[in-house]
Parts: sequence; structure tokens; C-alpha cells
Amino acid sequence: MAWFRRLIHVSSSIGSSIKYRNLNPSSPFLFTSFSHFSTESTLQTQSPNDFQYPGLRPTKPGEKPRVVVLGSGWAGCRLMKDIDTSIYDVVCVSPRNHMVFTPLLASTCVGTLEFRSVTEPIGRIQPAISRDPGSFFFLANCKELDTNNHEVHCESVTDGENNLKPWNFKISYDKLVIAAGAEASTFGINGVNEHAIFLREVHHAQEIRRKLLLNLMSSDMPGISEEEKCRLLHCVVIGGGPTGVEFSGELSDFIIKDVHERYAHVKDYIHVTLIEANEILSSFDDRLRQYATKQLIKTGVRLVCGIVKDVQPHKVILNDGTEVPYGLLVWSTGVGPSTLIRSLQLPKSPGGRIGVDEWLRVPSVQDVFAIGDCCGFLESTGKPVLPALAQVAERQGKYLGSLLNKVGKAGGGHANTARELELGAPFVYKHLGSMATVGSYKALVDLRESKETKGLALTGFVSWFIWRSAYLTRVISWRNRIYVAVNWATTLVFGRDINRI
Ligand SMILES: Cc1cc2nc3c(=O)[nH]c(=O)nc-3n(C[C@H](O)[C@H](O)[C@H](O)COP(=O)(O)OP(=O)(O)OC[C@H]3O[C@@H](n4cnc5c(N)ncnc54)[C@H](O)[C@@H]3O)c2cc1C
Repeated sequence: MAWFRRLIHVSSSIGSSIKYRNLNPSSPFLFTSFSHFSTESTLQTQSPNDFQYPGLRPTKPGEKPRVVVLGSGWAGCRLMKDIDTSIYDVVCVSPRNHMVFTPLLASTCVGTLEFRSVTEPIGRIQPAISRDPGSFFFLANCKELDTNNHEVHCESVTDGENNLKPWNFKISYDKLVIAAGAEASTFGINGVNEHAIFLREVHHAQEIRRKLLLNLMSSDMPGISEEEKCRLLHCVVIGGGPTGVEFSGELSDFIIKDVHERYAHVKDYIHVTLIEANEILSSFDDRLRQYATKQLIKTGVRLVCGIVKDVQPHKVILNDGTEVPYGLLVWSTGVGPSTLIRSLQLPKSPGGRIGVDEWLRVPSVQDVFAIGDCCGFLESTGKPVLPALAQVAERQGKYLGSLLNKVGKAGGGHANTARELELGAPFVYKHLGSMATVGSYKALVDLRESKETKGLALTGFVSWFIWRSAYLTRVISWRNRIYVAVNWATTLVFGRDINRI
């Protein structure tokens, strides 16, 4: 299998400068030659039916069963961390080779934290993926499922490289775990995809940081009109959920501490507006919401109650006809099922996620499970669809990891062999509480199971300290814990990084 691993490794790291030849799926000498000097790739798009490589064909009795995981987010990574690789081979398919610690992503947009501090490579989360002969990571998207034949059809990620065509291949699974997350909701509003920036991935945070710094520098150009200066430096955030509020708080901290000192010429022009259709932070109770509202207003964030009707290149139009010019527009109005999830012919939960039973199995198909933001309990279970939260995704990944280990130990690891097995206790979710920062060393911490139950609900500096301590301990690895702590310390002492790299 070493040759196969080399192919995958080389193809993802060298990219378009490689010329592949003699790709014959049945040949053990699949990867026979390449030229580093060619600019034109001969990699072709093939029908998925054409390509199933030896290491990815159905496993035989006596071989390790194969778990295929779609996605490298909270749910998929937690599952891969816990899966027993002495029982299973693990194959992960995802368009990104790392996990993102999303609760701290907003801090990277303004340079409080560096991007690498909130990401963890999959090979560190599950080392078998880079070491074991039957375990792999493929930088690819799942395009289709063939549940009758236990196969997933994938297409490699080419990142828009013109001379590299996507590569199609298929993988046989014994167990399939769909953990492909969700997509930002746009509610079909015109212009959102074209002009707004979402805040879900590291590349979004990078785009926001570059745009913010570009606008700051552009607004200081000689001859620029007052009106244009105001527009460029108007940061508009759509959506008053925890992500929108935390991002607005980070922006106002950046303005108060860094822009005032280092962009003094334009400091009076920069503003943040948060537009929300209802109330901000609707998942928190009244007292905490009011505190957040007061705090945001105090730090200069303008709160606007409105519904966006149309997004144009330089302005947002609200339902009542108000026009809001912007230089930076960040869209954070929640999530819905992704294109892949919508396209799958599987049972669906209310809201269009993949429907699962109490053991996170997808009924009506064998050996398929779904976890995280892409799944929801079926109506027939009588359980509500759980919120799209990291704590839900992570706990589902943990539960399913141990369930699959148990099934594997009981001899049900191979395809179609677990029908009669007793699965034990179903998945039960207990909410551990919610936290959100609002900037200026202030946060909300609600450790109650729901708004109605009794328990601890705090605001202010102590909450902010709890928020930071909690996330520092939850960051995936010691390496990242050190990065985060060092980033926070350098930001405190030297200010945020304002290099536009
Ligand atoms: C900025 C931000 C802040 C957040 N803060 C919090 C918080 O403080 N607390 C909290 O509980 N939750 C928070 N969340 C929500 C939390 O991040 C999500 O609920 C969680 O990431 C869901 O995990 P998941 O594994 O289901 O999906 P994700 O983490 O989104 O991972 C999905 C994975 O699937 C991959 N994928 C997508 N399409 C395909 C495909 N076709 N084939 C293969 N792979 C695919 C993606 O690349 C990704 O690797 C936040 C989210 C954001 C964006």
C-alpha cells in the first residue's frame, strides 16, 4: 500500500505541477512517472464507476473493516479520535485537512488570535490516518452515495486550479459516518453569496481580515471623499446570534484599542452595525440579552432591527426600504442543510437534515450513521432536532466512536454483519450551557440546561474569564493551547497584528 499512500500524499502536496501518466486502477504500478516541470496536467475527470483502487475495494473477512468518515469537523474528528484503529481502518474524506475550533474563529478575523491557533491537522487527531497502511485522508468532497453497494463517490479538491481537473474515485465502506456539517443560510436573498462574507471557515476569517485592513488603508488615501470613507469603514454584521454578536464585540475591541492608536486619521469614521430581524442572542434569557445589548451599545456597536431584502455591491437594502452602505459585510444568520445533504436520498428530519434514530443510525439503509449539524432525530423518535452546536456534534462523535468500537469487538464491523447486534444505551443529549463574549473583557455564561431551569447565569468580567478559561482547556491540543495563550498575551501587551499579509 505504500505506493498508494505516496500517490495521495504527492498529489495533494505538489498539486498542479505534476503530470500523471499510466493511471490504471488495476495495476499495482499505478503511479509510474511524473514530471515536476510540466505545467499541463493530464489528470482527467473520470466516471466514478471507473476508479476503485485496490486499497479501497470491499474488505474481505479476515481484513480490518473500513470506517469511512465524511467531514473533518467537530463530529467527524471526535469520532476519529476515539475509534479503535486496532479494529478498524479509517478513511476520512473532507475538503479540508484540519479541524477548526469554531468558538475562537471570530477572534482570528481581527488578529486577536492567529489562524493556526484554531486549527488542528487530522493526522494529529488520529495518527493512524498518516501511518496505517489501510487508513487514509483524501482531500475531496463526497458527491454521491450508493448505499446498496456500500460505496461513496468522491471528487478531489482542486481549489480552482485551471490546469488540474477534479479526480473522481469511489470507496467501499463497512461503516459510513456522514459528518459533513451544514451550510450558511442565505434564505435565498439576492446578492448574499456574491457580496457578503460568511464566517464558518478559516478562509472566511482570512478574507474578513484582509478586507478590513484593505478598507482601513484605502480610506486613508489622498482625495477620497467623506462619503466613500464612511462607506469603506462601515462594518455591517447580519445576524444577532452568538457568532454575529461575538464578531461585533471583537470588531469593537479592535476599533477601540488598535484602530484608535494605529489608524488615528480615520478612527472617527469606523463603525459597526449589527442587523437582526428579532432580538439578539435569542437562545439566552431576557436578563442576559439585555446585558449584551447594553454592553454592545456602550462599546459603539449600532443595533438595528430589520430584515435584509437585497444585498448590492456597496449597500444592503432592508424591508422598510432603508439603505445601509457598507465596506465590509459579514453574514451570520444560522445554518441549514448543505447541497450534499439535500441531494441524498435518505430519510430526513424536520428541517431537512439527515434523519437518524436514537443510535444515530440512518434507518432504511445498512451501516450508515449521521452525526453533527447534518443530522437530526426523525420525527418518529419523538425527540427534537438538536441545535447546530459543537457540543452536540462532539458528543455525538464520542458516542458513535464507542458504539462502533463495541460493534467491532462483537464481530459486527464488516458490512451487513451488525443487524442482530444489541447496541446498548441510545444517544442522550444533555445541554451543558452556553457562553458568548460581547467584547471589552465581558461575556455571558449560562450554565443552565434551559432558560427555564434554575442554575448559574453570569455576566461581566468573571464570565469573560470563565469563557476564556473554558475555551483554553477545550482547544484541541497542547500545541494549540500554547499558541492561543501566547496570542492572547501578545495581543494584550503589543496589540493586534495589523499586517495585511
Ligand atoms: C464562527 C462559529 C462559532 C461557533 N461557536 C460555537 C460555540 O461557541 N459553541 C458551540 O457549541 N458551537 C459553536 N459553533 C457551531 C459549531 O461549530 C458547529 O455546530 C459544529 O462545527 C458542527 O460540527 P460538524 O462536525 O457537524 O460540522 P463542521 O464542524 O461544520 O464540519 C463539517 C465537515 O464536513 C466537511 N464537508 C462539507 N461538505 C463535505 C462533502 N461533500 N464531503 C466531505 N466532507 C464535507 C467540511 O469541510 C467539514 O470538515 C460555531 C460555529 C461557527 C461557524
